[in-house]
Amino acid sequence: MAAENFRVRRVLIIGGGFAGLECSQRLSNDPRFSVTLVDKANHHVFQPLLYQVATASLAAPDIARSIRQILADSSNVTVFMDEVTAIDVAGKAATGKSGRRYEYDYLVVAAGARTSFFGRSEWEQHTMGLKTLMDAQNIRRTVLANLEWAELTDDEDERRKLMTVAIVGGGPTGVELAGAFSDLVHRSLRTNFRRIDTARLRVVLVEGSNRILETFDTDQSEYGLRRLTELGVEVALNTRVDDVRAGALHFADGTVLEAAAIIWAAGVEAQPITTLLGVPLADRGGRIAPLADLSVPGHPEIFVAGDLVRMKDVDDKPVPGVAPAATQMGKHIAKVLKEEVRLEGTKFAERKLDLRPRFRYLDKGVMAIIGKNHAIVKAGNYKLHGFIAWLAWLFIHIAFLIGFRNRLAVLLGWASSYISNEPEARIIANPPGTKDPAN
Ligand SMILES: Cc1cc2nc3c(=O)[nH]c(=O)nc-3n(C[C@H](O)[C@H](O)[C@H](O)COP(=O)(O)OP(=O)(O)OC[C@H]3O[C@@H](n4cnc5c(N)ncnc54)[C@H](O)[C@@H]3O)c2cc1C
Repeated sequence: MAAENFRVRRVLIIGGGFAGLECSQRLSNDPRFSVTLVDKANHHVFQPLLYQVATASLAAPDIARSIRQILADSSNVTVFMDEVTAIDVAGKAATGKSGRRYEYDYLVVAAGARTSFFGRSEWEQHTMGLKTLMDAQNIRRTVLANLEWAELTDDEDERRKLMTVAIVGGGPTGVELAGAFSDLVHRSLRTNFRRIDTARLRVVLVEGSNRILETFDTDQSEYGLRRLTELGVEVALNTRVDDVRAGALHFADGTVLEAAAIIWAAGVEAQPITTLLGVPLADRGGRIAPLADLSVPGHPEIFVAGDLVRMKDVDDKPVPGVAPAATQMGKHIAKVLKEEVRLEGTKFAERKLDLRPRFRYLDKGVMAIIGKNHAIVKAGNYKLHGFIAWLAWLFIHIAFLIGFRNRLAVLLGWASSYISNEPEARIIANPPGTKDPAN
């Protein structure tokens, strides 16, 4: 099909995460589309492995890749590193922080989610989230630096506080972090210090409800709880955070937990970009409820995808905020756009909006790792736990790291640190609160 027979459609995609990247790749080298991908970062992050970076098992480049590099062979895709701060829906254009204006015929908003503090934004300054590479690096350097300072101090109270990591939120992220921290201090760092016993690092997992891992079945939650307890993690169920201050969590029952590292894994909300579209938001998390084709009500030219979407699919199944759902949505939008352009000039052109395909989510299951050698997997009615589940987790995650550094190199590096209990990424280049020692 010759490009000159078609008006080239300008597609603006905001966000190079799972949804935006998939959509770009599906439209790649299709002469009917000129795609602009704008992301505030220059890299795509494989978020499911962020906790491995936070706990020093993997280095940042192992789980991230330059968006420009991924799309290097997509000649119709132009990538800009810019943060979209305004959307002129009537004028069909978005504006970036750089001041650049991006005009579009179709807009795909796939900017993902951010850490939510449930309206208590002042808690952010005292806690660390885990959504970006910088977050993961911040957690790692804070916990590793706290251990260094604990080795230095003679003050027992200060040492106790430095050697306490509090994690708020008993979902997969909180559980995976807690298990990995426990492995790090019990196995890997144990022989490295002389004055402190790293195995005495307290890892406290705080959960407001009566069980952890609520997206899994009850027996799997119980298995997770047992495993964490065996690993020495203190799990506080039915414990609601009332206030967060510097180095301290205050609970609803009046008790206080002093911890030099507080990690907030209690929830996410849509990126604030959803408020720029001028459409009603579907929930307090700022998400948008699209129509079945993933377009925004009243705006057939605007689509939303990924973590900022709240919807049920064509089979009335709620679509979760997970990577496969985002990828499938990105793919679906590309399909809708291609179909739309194909119908133009045919007898169906008038009905093209009613003919748009509706989104169907293919649930590939959920999994969580709970310390070395143990995981849980749930896929439909099929459940696994223990070492087999851990192997399944390992296989799937390595397979997904396609194109992120050399998969084999990542696997070998990981395997060697796994067998030797020597985490690879434990250099603190810039300890918190210190100047660069080289300057
Ligand atoms: C710690 C952690 C662990 C997870 N584990 C799993 C797991 O095991 N399995 C699983 O399936 N899912 C997991 N998830 C969820 C999964 O990562 C998300 O569902 C998925 O990343 C959503 O994809 P997305 O494209 O919607 O957004 P993202 O992947 O978050 O991408 C959004 C992109 O938009 C960019 N952006 C944001 N705002 C703007 C703006 N204003 N202008 C320009 N660019 C912008 C961001 O820089 C980012 O690159 C995990 C998430 C986290 C945080």
